[in-house]
Amino acid sequence: MLEIRLNCENCDKSLPNECDAAMICSYECTFCTDCVASVLENVCPNCGGGFEKRPTRPKAALEKHPPRKDKVLKPIIENSYLKKNCSINPRER
Ligand SMILES: [Zn+2]
Ligand SMILES: [Zn+2]
Repeated sequence: MLEIRLNCENCDKSLPNECDAAMICSYECTFCTDCVASVLENVCPNCGGGFEKRPTRPKAALEKHPPRKDKVLKPIIENSYLKKNCSINPRER
């Protein structure tokens, strides 16, 4: 099941379930669209993969499967994945 994380892991911007600005990698690392575009260049700093837009969990399902309560916050520092992968299509990394 997809883990809905409510903040950007890099800049801590709020990313509620219904917002349009949340991007996730295949491991559910969650960043805002601004960080994915400008800081990460579509490279996940944790796994090297690309990002897709996070789907919104239907309201009716939130009670049974609520978003994650604690924050994941790990601002980006120098990272070898970013330089190595930013020029490679995410489907071919
Ligand atoms: Zn961000
Ligand atoms: Zn990742």
